[in-house]
Amino acid sequence: MKRLYGVLLFLWTALLCCGCGAEEIQRRQFTDAVMGTVLQQSIYAADMETAEALAEDVVLLLEDLERQEISWRQEGSELFEVNMSAGTTGGFLLSEEMTELLIKCRELWESSEGALDVTLLPVVRLWDIDTWAAAGETAGFAPPDEEELERALALCGGEKLRLEPQSFREDGKVLQARVFMPRGLQLDLGAVGKGAALDKIRVLLEQSGVESTVISLGGSILTYGEKPDGSLWKVGVVDPRDTSSQIALLSLEGQWCVSTSGDYERYVEAGGVRYHHIIDPSAGRPADGGVRSVTVLSKDGFLSDALSTACFILGVEKGMELAGQYGAETLFVTSDGSVILSEGMKKYIIS
Ligand code: AMP
Ligand code: MG
Repeated sequence: MKRLYGVLLFLWTALLCCGCGAEEIQRRQFTDAVMGTVLQQSIYAADMETAEALAEDVVLLLEDLERQEISWRQEGSELFEVNMSAGTTGGFLLSEEMTELLIKCRELWESSEGALDVTLLPVVRLWDIDTWAAAGETAGFAPPDEEELERALALCGGEKLRLEPQSFREDGKVLQARVFMPRGLQLDLGAVGKGAALDKIRVLLEQSGVESTVISLGGSILTYGEKPDGSLWKVGVVDPRDTSSQIALLSLEGQWCVSTSGDYERYVEAGGVRYHHIIDPSAGRPADGGVRSVTVLSKDGFLSDALSTACFILGVEKGMELAGQYGAETLFVTSDGSVILSEGMKKYIIS
């Protein structure tokens, strides 16, 4: 009997200790400015040091990605070098990562019938919406001169981006390519960079030992793992005309990426017109596909980001069809404020 009591006491103590351990897992939040936007991390960890170390690793990863690879502004980044190589005969030998990224961009350019076009930098720079929006200043803003716009648009075009394979993987996919850029061609990865970053963060999280995290980077969100209490992640979709409130709430398991492209993110208003940062490549002007925002749900960060931009330009019908080809779900907020959901998106909406 005594031994039985002893065993029971031991089990009870063990149970209590497990309980204590589980209770110590807390949500720790971090906010930083990275990649020209706001990074918010909610990391569920047993102790602050673990959470802080992970949060710092994520910031470093993003700073490196920006500085060394994908920023067209950052002198010395790979993309900067690629843009510098425009007009040279030898082209530029891409890293394996950049090869993969540009191949994916080119595929999306094709499947979106040119809507997603990473060669629009000359036009993007001419409008310079990012700078005007960041300054929060409208006085002095005017749309670019028509002739200048036409000249800039003539320099752009996904068909001008030539990628020549240099080596292959065992499965036949291109490992490394050389890019040949005609004079004037300039790349901007702003439409896909944050989503691609989420894919990299996911790999980091897998190695970290931390089991539940949600990361928000500008308009793109990654849910990772299960919440300690077993409940689902709640991800709000911003109301494009009242950004302090939500137009919908999604309930998601871990491993989803949610990206939103909207005319409310970066814009200038002048003469009653809203000039935003998403350019219709066929016109060289802010796209007017009849939508205020598009939210795309995919397991792949690159796709969620690339598709949200493309869908914004294509509008509801064509956009939903394109996203469907990639198994992605969509939520459109149209110009009259109504919300249109793809069939598969409906089950994730809780309000
Ligand atoms: P996002 O917020 O992901 O929709 O990306 C918008 C950013 O991508 C802009 O700030 C531009 O830098 C760039 N961009 C604008 N229009 C396009 C386009 N049609 N295709 C690719 N990138 C674009
Ligand atoms: Mg995008």
